[in-house]
Amino acid sequence: MKNSAPQHVPMSQFGTRNNNLVIGGIELPQVVERVGQTPFYAYDRKLITQRVTDLRNAMPEELKIHYAMKANPMPAVVQHMAAITDGLDVASAGEMKVALDTPIPAGNISMAGPGKRPGELRQAVAAGITINVESANELEELANQSEHLGITANIAIRINPAFELKSSGMKMGGGPKQFGIDEEQVPNVLNRIKELNLNFKGFHIFSGSQNLKADSIIDAQEKSIALAIQLTDDCPSPIQKLNIGGGYGIPYFPGETHLDVGRVGDTLAIRMQEAKEKIPTAEIIIELGRYLVGEAGIYVTQIIDKKTSRGQVFLVCDGGLHHHLAASGNFGQVIRKNYPAAIANKMDLKTTEKTNIVGPLCTPLDTLSDKMDLPEAEVGDFVVIFQSGAYGFTASPIAFLTQPNAQEILI
Ligand SMILES: *Cc1c(COP(=O)(O)O)cnc(C)c1O
Repeated sequence: MKNSAPQHVPMSQFGTRNNNLVIGGIELPQVVERVGQTPFYAYDRKLITQRVTDLRNAMPEELKIHYAMKANPMPAVVQHMAAITDGLDVASAGEMKVALDTPIPAGNISMAGPGKRPGELRQAVAAGITINVESANELEELANQSEHLGITANIAIRINPAFELKSSGMKMGGGPKQFGIDEEQVPNVLNRIKELNLNFKGFHIFSGSQNLKADSIIDAQEKSIALAIQLTDDCPSPIQKLNIGGGYGIPYFPGETHLDVGRVGDTLAIRMQEAKEKIPTAEIIIELGRYLVGEAGIYVTQIIDKKTSRGQVFLVCDGGLHHHLAASGNFGQVIRKNYPAAIANKMDLKTTEKTNIVGPLCTPLDTLSDKMDLPEAEVGDFVVIFQSGAYGFTASPIAFLTQPNAQEILI
């Protein structure tokens, strides 16, 4: 896959000083010394805060913004997010533990995901968080757990809508899916809730991920709110929480541009005005992972060998797909494309060499960049991969080939 745009240019969210990439105000070689090793991930807390502030300015004031922890569950990051967002969305009891360690009240934590185990549901009921119910069986299990514990579970119904989030990197709604309860079955499930001792909170409609098209997101948000309004008469009690998902994407590859959140926010404001009349008790929530943290993170690895094979240059690094599966193109991408990368201690040098950046694993899949134009690099230089704050470390097969682990730092 050929990329035409210059790739050595630092991502504009990071600065440079003395030829070095700067993160958290510190030149990269000093960050390396501070961490004490490569490879590592570094996340810039100021950039994360700025992103949330900008997003709030673009979105309607009453909209609640939740952080979907699976994008980056590093406890320090989650603590930071807890201070600047309105709630946390977890996908397991393990994530719930980290979420409950923050100051966010249990009432603003929700759990989603198919296949929640009975023990996990029990923990969630005991914690008092909102459980997004994904099947009729799960509903019965929750009623049993509630009775057993003498604690009424807070539940929302996750709906698999009839519509889908168009142009989404990963669709998670519409058609047959393992997520949520099909829209057509929801009235029956709501009737069943009336017979059970459960605390009905509302609905969760998450239809997809990594979307850069404002129109697609606007369309999905509009349909999600309309669907909730349409279901109100079947609800056992007024809707308190309406989680309309997220899917806001970030640009990774040449030609991709930032999502126009201004337009999304303007349209959502109109829809929320309508919702205020028809479902006045409902607090409207979006849940975002990647959009909030993805652009604030880098992956840093050091070049340990440089070789030429039949005319092509290979920079062999101490890190690779075992820490950063997504950058190798093996995490949901259809066609492998290069994540933006740079030689972090040669930021101001001209690109004079076409290079392949590879990791230490014995598999050709361990390629971080394919034929990228970069300044001439040598052993000891640092390679950074940008757009690495989400679905990086914990989305990678770290046990593969028993390599040393990567560190993480919030700076
Ligand atoms: C993964 C996931 C998210 C986060 O998606 P992003 O694309 O990272 O914003 C939000 N909600 C649910 C239910 C998810 O499964």
